[in-house]
This record gives sequence, structure tokens and C-alpha cells, in this order.
Amino acid sequence: MDQPPTIRDRLFAVVTVFLAVVLLLPALVWRPRRARELACGWALGLRFPAEDLTGLTDGARAAFTAARTEAFWRHGQLIGLTSGHRDPAAQQRLFDEEVRRCGSPAAARLRVLPPAESGHVAGIALDVRPREGALWLEKHGARHDLYRTYDNEWWHFEYRPETHGVPPRRLPCPGVAEPASC
Ligand SMILES: [Zn+2]
Repeated sequence: MDQPPTIRDRLFAVVTVFLAVVLLLPALVWRPRRARELACGWALGLRFPAEDLTGLTDGARAAFTAARTEAFWRHGQLIGLTSGHRDPAAQQRLFDEEVRRCGSPAAARLRVLPPAESGHVAGIALDVRPREGALWLEKHGARHDLYRTYDNEWWHFEYRPETHGVPPRRLPCPGVAEPASC
């Protein structure tokens, strides 16, 4: 599971940081106060062109942007979004597929939550990549109210400002109220 970053990943990181440095100048001219955030965002947009931050709550989007700007400029760490907000119908399709695969709703909900319970539908959940970026977020995300919430999903984080800096209890997997076997 803990695979070291590939040479390709490292190369992408170096190129992306280089691009962001080049983009800092136009960003400084355009929006001096947000230059680092903008240059980082533009460079990450080239690295992760398919990502989509729309539908996240304002708080979740601002926290994610601030966290990955920090990761980028402080540690040269790239964090991309694999999946953010999902509409209820898309989440229902994922859940239904999992029910077919697992054989029952009870088994399915340990891997995919139904729409009413999903942080992705609520706009506060973020699936990130690559693994190294997720590890950074696990270590430093609390500063931005972002927390990994499941043992079995290294990529899944949630924006949880209501805990006021106290990490929410991490559950073994989705769909269980208590730390129990999945
Ligand atoms: Zn997720």
C-alpha cells in the first residue's frame, strides 16, 4: 500500500513546481495578495486537468485551496482532487453498484454510503491523490479543519470545522457508527 513515489510522479512534481514559479510573476501582477495561491492553482490545474472543485461548500473549497497551497510552497507536495462533490443521483448509482457487487445494502454501506449520509453529496468530502499528498494532508490538514475519517480510505478527507481543531474519531470504514470490524 505504501508505495514510494514513482520517478514519473517526482518528475511531474518538479515540473509543476517550476511552472508555478514561472506563473508567480503574472499572478503577482494580477492579484498580488493571492499570487501564491493562484500560481499554485494554475500549475496544479495543468497537472490535474480533470479535477473539479465545483459543488464543494465554500468552507471546504477554501480549506482545500489553503491546504494545498501550503503543501505546495512549503514542502513541494502536490495534492490533486480525484472526487469532490457528487450529486445525489451519482452517489445513488455508486451505492446501487456496490449493493450489486456485495449482495446487500448492509455490506455495501461499509464501502459506499447512500446519498443522505455521504460527505461527498454534502460537499464537505474530498478524495485526493497521490498517496504522498494524502499523507501530507493527514499530517497537516487539521490546521485547515481537514481530516482523514476512515482507516480503509487513505484518500478520503472531510472538512470538519465544527470540531474546533479536535480530530474527529477516525472510523475503520464508512457506514459504521463505532470503531468495529468492517
Ligand atoms: Zn471519498
